[in-house]
Amino acid sequence: MYRNAKNVGYYMIGDGALDQLHELMIPQRDAMPDAPVIYFIDHFFKKTDLVQRVPILEWDMRIFVDTTDEPTCESVDKYASEAKKFLNGKKACALIALGGGSTMDTCKCVGNLLTNPGDAADYQGWDLVKNPAPYKVAIPTLSGTGSETSRTGIMTNKKKGIKLGMNSDYSMFDQVLLDPRLPMTAPRDQYFYTGVDCFMHCFEYLDGQYRNKITDAFAEKALELTKEVFLSDDMMSNDNREKLMIASYKGGMAAGFVGVVHPFSAGLSIVLGMHHGLANCYALSVLGDIYPEPYRIFNEMMSKQGITLKKGICANLSPEQYDQLYEASIVHEKPLMNKLGEKYREILTKENVIDRFKQM
Ligand code: ZN
Repeated sequence: MYRNAKNVGYYMIGDGALDQLHELMIPQRDAMPDAPVIYFIDHFFKKTDLVQRVPILEWDMRIFVDTTDEPTCESVDKYASEAKKFLNGKKACALIALGGGSTMDTCKCVGNLLTNPGDAADYQGWDLVKNPAPYKVAIPTLSGTGSETSRTGIMTNKKKGIKLGMNSDYSMFDQVLLDPRLPMTAPRDQYFYTGVDCFMHCFEYLDGQYRNKITDAFAEKALELTKEVFLSDDMMSNDNREKLMIASYKGGMAAGFVGVVHPFSAGLSIVLGMHHGLANCYALSVLGDIYPEPYRIFNEMMSKQGITLKKGICANLSPEQYDQLYEASIVHEKPLMNKLGEKYREILTKENVIDRFKQM
């Protein structure tokens, strides 16, 4: 069976493109005159002048998304109930996300909850969302996760001990605005960890079995761009910020079809609360036998950019925590099968998996 793949509706790219947001919103505002826009803004920007630059009208709502930790079902439910309370039965004319992967994912998930009954946890999985979400705009301020083009909004479900997205066409943005000036103020290490997520999505996808020729073309180009960025002298130059934005945009379309890195990364996020990008780096650092070439390139990228990983992060955990790490990784059947086939448990035995975590 062939999958009917959706792309984001519109995109705009250019240095300073944020200044055109007002213009982009005119048709939405005109179509629903008194309806508010709900902004989801990374709390990192709360006290910066970036907030002054976005066209917020007096009847709009601003939600500052706390990105200290990545989105959970609880955090999404909380923001959804705030938004519903604010709307008081009215409809929003648009939802706009201004931030990195966590902010964009929060916006995607809350959007689905505004038009579908129940809680965030009810929609973790594939194609469970039944009604279209309001019109959504993504303005990434960090590149790499591909959330701006992917069909998922990832959340940690603490009760179930899983990290899983609302995988649905309705999660996708209708408009993406790419302004390469925005990641300029990002901390260097965060820029690296997030950006490298795109490299991971692309090689995991290209090395897997769930493919199509169009996504192949996007992933190949995105992979090439991430290598150019992270093997160059200054990964944050004007040129490279733009390249990484394009890579993330293209890589996002391959982001749902990952391999072995992401399940290990999910284990670290669930048990240690580690952020996604950094957790991916630790995961690949112990998967050299499974992904030899990406492993080699990744090490070269780290040394070129002067990034190091502190050793021993899983050295002294309790037996229960090692069990949890194993369970939270091995549960990701689809991605593991994508790389290792149906017999993935024969390679990734419990002992093998725990041993890898101990090497981190
Ligand atoms: Zn990822």
